[in-house]
Amino acid sequence: MRSSSAVKDPAALELKAAFEAVSPMIEDFTATICPTCERVCCIDRHGTHEKADLLFLEAMGETLPGDAPKADDTEPCRHLGPKGCTIARRTRPYRCTWYFCSALLERMPAEDPRGYRKLVAALERLGALRQRLLEHH
Ligand code: SF4
Ligand code: SF4
Repeated sequence: MRSSSAVKDPAALELKAAFEAVSPMIEDFTATICPTCERVCCIDRHGTHEKADLLFLEAMGETLPGDAPKADDTEPCRHLGPKGCTIARRTRPYRCTWYFCSALLERMPAEDPRGYRKLVAALERLGALRQRLLEHH
């Protein structure tokens, strides 16, 4: 695969920027809500990339991160460290960015309605950019 520094595709660069924008917005919420979670959703099954994720990594000039899947896919995700996910958001399976558990969905709009609206808008933009990039590869 190409190294990320070799990527000059404007769509890929735009997408990387969209990930950089959305990531801290998500983390503002998860940083307060996830540490008290009793059933962490990051199981190994969720850390496995789908075909579209692999295409997307290639388009972005990124290599597939992490080790091989664990034998038991209900164990903690191979990418999970003591302080949360250890890989850049743009290299995670896309589900890791669009999935929000019921606790998050309930608390985000209640605790910070403006921040939540900004996050939804940023996620919509990211989704549209990703779709466009995938359609061209
Ligand atoms: S996203 Fe929800 S289920 Fe996953 S760790 Fe955070 S609070 Fe728990
Ligand atoms: S966010 Fe990171 S640790 Fe959690 S399932 Fe996705 S890749 Fe694994």
